[in-house]
Amino acid sequence: MVSLLTRGRACGSMPGQTRVSMLTFDAHLDLAMNALEWNRDLTRPVDEIRAREKGKTDKPDRGRGTVCLSEMRRGGVGLCVATQIARIEHDAYSPVFGWRSQAQAWAQTQGQLAWYRAMEEQGEMVQIRDAEGLEKHLNIWNGASSASTSVGNHSARDKSEGKEDSSKKLPIGYILTLEGADSIVTLNHLERAWEYGLRAIGPAHYGPGVYANGTDATGGFNARGKELLKEMDRLGFILDATHLCDDCFWEALDLYEGPIWASHNNCRALVPHNRQFSDEQIKALVQRGAVMGAALDAWMMVPGWVRGKTTPEAAGLKLEKIVEHIDHVCQIAGNARHSGIGSDLDGAFGREQTPNDLDTIADLARIADLLRNRSYAGADVANVMSGNFVRFLKEAWS
Ligand SMILES: [Zn+2]
Repeated sequence: MVSLLTRGRACGSMPGQTRVSMLTFDAHLDLAMNALEWNRDLTRPVDEIRAREKGKTDKPDRGRGTVCLSEMRRGGVGLCVATQIARIEHDAYSPVFGWRSQAQAWAQTQGQLAWYRAMEEQGEMVQIRDAEGLEKHLNIWNGASSASTSVGNHSARDKSEGKEDSSKKLPIGYILTLEGADSIVTLNHLERAWEYGLRAIGPAHYGPGVYANGTDATGGFNARGKELLKEMDRLGFILDATHLCDDCFWEALDLYEGPIWASHNNCRALVPHNRQFSDEQIKALVQRGAVMGAALDAWMMVPGWVRGKTTPEAAGLKLEKIVEHIDHVCQIAGNARHSGIGSDLDGAFGREQTPNDLDTIADLARIADLLRNRSYAGADVANVMSGNFVRFLKEAWS
């Protein structure tokens, strides 16, 4: 095992002391998709959302969701990258549901935007679109945790949630991203999206897309895709390398001049599948200054997972496993400045496909403890939990 320069003495909390979680940045959540397609009211407690879904079978994760806004607050997840997501169907290859036209996909993303706006109006969320907004939001959350309000207090779940004192309810900051660019009908739509606050785009999702080829597909960007990249560059978008097939990945690194990150991606060396990054790809991303978010989707954490068959118990899957992926990226980089969390915890799966010892998104806070147990220094732990993505955004938006 390579010894990391940045590792230092583990720093635990005093026995009996309630740990106040440090700010956690989750670089990938499909919040609006869950609100609109799963019909989940994310302002309600997670137990209530689960109870309402009892007996439903229309989605694989019914009754087993792990994400709601109060659980994010409890775990200190005060900042996230939240998606708009709507792809179109391909007759040749359509691995997941898609709309019949780009116009329909665009309309779907506009509904999702309307949900985020509704959350903003209720004080539940706040859109972060520039360095100034980011700084302001960080001050609110950091101030709140040092004043030890309920924010990020990683204690037992408050059963009376929903009636909580609204003064304690800090808004969750979100950076708007688009997972798969199929819904961008024309370059004019791209400009409109920038105007309403879209700041990152992953050009592809699963299989072939309008602009690029995604997971399980092959081939580079088509002519429209290259135009899209150029216009994204001009407007100042972050390019999300997640879900690009290998051909598009390498082409994107050549063609794109702006900032690149990978919102939710694990390591191919640990789980051999094209959805994960090879060591070579990780090296190239490190050279580009990228930050990679580790994903908590079971099939991307351990090899040989069969959806709907393998269980977290049978696989012995624990949260500790994600630290192996994080550590793998840190070992390749030679430091802890390129690794973060992009949980994807509400990406069409729930407790049936997450680590066995994870109940809700609030448990992400425990990743900090697991890193400390591996003797990661305090500053490195803070960087993985949120510092790296925050630094990335500050640089991208400077
Ligand atoms: Zn995804």
